[in-house]
Amino acid sequence: MKLFYDVSLKELKRWLDEHGETAYRAAQIFEWAYQHDVTSFEEMTNLPTDLRVALAEAFTIGPLEPVTLAEDEAALKALLAMPGGGDVECVAMRMEGYTSACLSSQVGCAVGCGFCASAMGGCDRNLTAGEIILQLITLRAKVGPIRNAVFMGMGEAFHNYEAVCEAIDRMTDKRAMGMSPGHITVSTCGVVPMIHRYAHEGPKTELAVSLGSADQGIRDMLMPGVSRWDLGDLMAACYDFSQARKGQPVTFAYVMLAGVNDQYHDVDRLARLLSAQPHHLNLIPYNEVPDCPYLAPDEPTINTFYRRCREAGLNVSVRRSRGQTIDAACGQLRRRAGV
Ligand code: SF4
Repeated sequence: MKLFYDVSLKELKRWLDEHGETAYRAAQIFEWAYQHDVTSFEEMTNLPTDLRVALAEAFTIGPLEPVTLAEDEAALKALLAMPGGGDVECVAMRMEGYTSACLSSQVGCAVGCGFCASAMGGCDRNLTAGEIILQLITLRAKVGPIRNAVFMGMGEAFHNYEAVCEAIDRMTDKRAMGMSPGHITVSTCGVVPMIHRYAHEGPKTELAVSLGSADQGIRDMLMPGVSRWDLGDLMAACYDFSQARKGQPVTFAYVMLAGVNDQYHDVDRLARLLSAQPHHLNLIPYNEVPDCPYLAPDEPTINTFYRRCREAGLNVSVRRSRGQTIDAACGQLRRRAGV
């Protein structure tokens, strides 16, 4: 059986036609599925019974029952067994006045960032668009309405470009989830050709780039999976994005690692790298992960680094991760229960 969230409105209309039903039913079915969060076709009470039965025979619908759930006052983390195989984690983060979801795009990840728990074990497969949406549907069933979404869970979003874009299409389609594109952030470690492509043909979301370091050698060491592109290529792609999107800034996520990229000269390198680029620099003090060799910087180092970035003219903030107590913070997502 096919996952319903993998079906586009066009495909659903074709399916209805093949089953002797009128196309306008598609909009009704989408509304039930995406706006009323039904858990079965049976609940779609304005559809004929025969159609509900046929839909139930063809598609699965509704949230998953998480394999494990962990919750603190700031976040809820769910480990989900995906219909296509493999487990991924996703997180609902309670912000001030709204909830944001952190979504996975792959089972595992091939980039191999040295500071990231998701990288351990490589990449098993890409998630489908429906499996990405299913994370949102499942989180919504647990925490209520979700306004924002970030592709910062497990996986490199631009290694699964087509499915991520298809998922965003349904997330932002008013006939489906109706989220604002400006409330969605796609995150990449710097897959340069895909940044260019996304700039010109991708959905009009925010873009975040994980930098690791503004020093080429350190970045290559921390993020070996994207070392084939140098920082010059990366910045040219980011500039292309901002130009194509009328000056829209790129968010640069900078995971601060004690003694690796938190020194004075790192501020100078960042200032040189970002000065000509519309940017927002997001400093993320490292969340320590067992089996990863890196340590978090201490508070005075973080504060000094932040202050010097501001003095250097950078548009900078410090992101305090949510969900640290349940290992749901950046770079802490894994794919198995109990690891
Ligand atoms: S930080 Fe992102 S791209 Fe890097 S290994 Fe982790 S999940 Fe993959």
